[in-house]
Amino acid sequence: MLTPVILKHCSKFRFLRFSNFARSIASFLDPALGLSEEQLQVQKIAQEFSSKEMFPNMAEWDEKEIFPVEILRKAAALGFGAIYSSEKYGGSGMTRLDASIIFEALSRGCVSTTAYITIHNMAVWMIDHYGNEEQKKKWLPKLSTMEHFASYCLTEPNSGSDAASLSTTAKKEGDYYILNGTKAFISGGGESDIYVLMARTGQSGPKGISCLVVEKGTPGLSFGKKEKKVSLKL
Ligand SMILES: Cc1cc2nc3c(=O)[nH]c(=O)nc-3n(C[C@H](O)[C@H](O)[C@H](O)COP(=O)(O)OP(=O)(O)OC[C@H]3O[C@@H](n4cnc5c(N)ncnc54)[C@H](O)[C@@H]3O)c2cc1C
Repeated sequence: MLTPVILKHCSKFRFLRFSNFARSIASFLDPALGLSEEQLQVQKIAQEFSSKEMFPNMAEWDEKEIFPVEILRKAAALGFGAIYSSEKYGGSGMTRLDASIIFEALSRGCVSTTAYITIHNMAVWMIDHYGNEEQKKKWLPKLSTMEHFASYCLTEPNSGSDAASLSTTAKKEGDYYILNGTKAFISGGGESDIYVLMARTGQSGPKGISCLVVEKGTPGLSFGKKEKKVSLKL
């Protein structure tokens, strides 16, 4: 009797694989496919925002390398500044899937501005998820409204794909950490107020890396020249 059971499961498995594949193709043609009522509403809001506020400005932002502060704050007013962070400190408390739906819709209006919004959301979530209450209370409300902007600082001139080889160090001295190192390709770079930064506090490799939050204006924090890039100029 074992064979029919296995066959039954195999055919179900094949069907599931096929339907997932079919859905991924179909949702490429119609991004609304398979979404719940709430997700469709969120998608509609993001699409309208993208076509009215982002698309008409996209070429100018790109050409003049503009970091569109006011538009970003308008996006945050819709809840897009802290999409999957908890509501306690101003987040929208949505899921990662909701965030993907929003980012997909926004990127139709401007890919690079949307890329920055994804990074800001990631940095905000890291504080929301791993920070203590004092840190959350201090930083999250202004990050959720994008009154403050955040950057995610992992890459260094000599560590890109192999991020675990990063060489920026953080050494504890009394109540402070003394940071020493250089970061590269940081989206939002000079514009941001908060830097969620990876630095080595222990052994070599991934296990020796910690995450610190650095505020703009911290003594010793300085910025190099802006990289010349094709698109993604934020
Ligand atoms: C526009 C832009 C914005 C960015 N924003 C941020 C940001 O906000 N924060 C941040 O921390 N970083 C940011 N980055 C950095 C980005 O994450 C790195 O560029 C990326 O990790 C790749 O690192 P690298 O450029 O040093 O390339 P490298 O790591 O030197 O890789 C070069 C090439 O070699 C390939 N390669 C590398 N290792 C291997 C391997 N073991 N086997 C086979 N192939 C390999 C890579 O796929 C790539 O094609 C940004 C980069 C750009 C261009």
